[in-house]
Amino acid sequence: MPKNIGWIGLGAMGFPMCLNLVKKLSSDTHFYVNDVVQGFVDKFVQEGGQTRIHACASAKEVADKSDIILSMVPEGSHVRAVYLTPETGLLASNLASKILIDCSTIDTGTSLAVRDDCASSHPRARFYDAPVSGGVSGAEKATLTFMLGSASSNPDLPFLQHLLGLMGGNIFPCGGASLGLTAKLCNNYTSAMISVATSEAMIVGMKAGMDPRVLANIFHTSTAQSAICDDWCPVPGVVPGAPSSRDYKGGFKIALMKKDVGLAVETAGRLGVEVVLGRPGLGVYEEAAADPRCEGLDSRVVYRFLGGRED
Ligand code: NAD
Repeated sequence: MPKNIGWIGLGAMGFPMCLNLVKKLSSDTHFYVNDVVQGFVDKFVQEGGQTRIHACASAKEVADKSDIILSMVPEGSHVRAVYLTPETGLLASNLASKILIDCSTIDTGTSLAVRDDCASSHPRARFYDAPVSGGVSGAEKATLTFMLGSASSNPDLPFLQHLLGLMGGNIFPCGGASLGLTAKLCNNYTSAMISVATSEAMIVGMKAGMDPRVLANIFHTSTAQSAICDDWCPVPGVVPGAPSSRDYKGGFKIALMKKDVGLAVETAGRLGVEVVLGRPGLGVYEEAAADPRCEGLDSRVVYRFLGGRED
């Protein structure tokens, strides 16, 4: 395992993911971290331990000091900024044969373009897309699923599986560059549509007089079973630990789900696949994300947007 690890983006996901590496790797592994919000960096240095965590002023400085660099930022524009900003971006460093892993959920076009730029300026460096599923709780518990843009024959794979395995239980090589992102967008498209369908079905059942907990139990043992209903039920009070049961606080923000559904619909369009739920589904998430009753909350708040009862 390399002795110097770089991390860029210490937000809701990046912070606990990187903290797991700090906890699980030996005390002679050092971490070089950066975030545009200095407060997150300071907090990370405090929690991770001042002797092993080093704050860096730029992505380039992270790359200068690390053998392997991971990033976890919100959107494609942020990934471009991290990698391509002249003078201070990752590619401004001498990357030699370093490994770069971007865990952000972004569009495949940006990821491939960044990979190409990386390959043309640093031919021996290797760039991988490795988005995750499992949410903040999965990041904290190191149970994330990683979707890796790599072939299973890739000689880097055992190392990647070992490193990512410190943050997650399932590492899937998806076949090649950007296919990790494709898998992630397929997953989130499915999960977003199940959230809408589950919310609507629950609204119908409750309107007819059913207890939503009974309905959820029926779904659980029937063909409507899903992780959304079992663990992330959109109806408050059905699953005690779900974000809906704490006024939709925490969890996976509705703006991120809107972004992912948009990216999934765009990917489908680019591949010539007509996704009939895509446009109307995206419309629901666009409107819900802009609704003051839902803004900033877990994406399952779509139930509230659709008119669900919350008593
Ligand atoms: P977040 O907004 O909480 O964290 C992102 C961090 O990146 C912030 O701290 C921000 O300051 C930092 N950042 C932005 N631009 C930067 C730059 N140029 N240089 C350095 N730092 C920069 O977001 P998050 O919830 O951690 O999500 C990150 C990614 O993970 C997104 O693509 C999201 O879709 C994906 N994701 C999130 C979840 C979730 O439950 N939150 C689950 C799976 C995947």
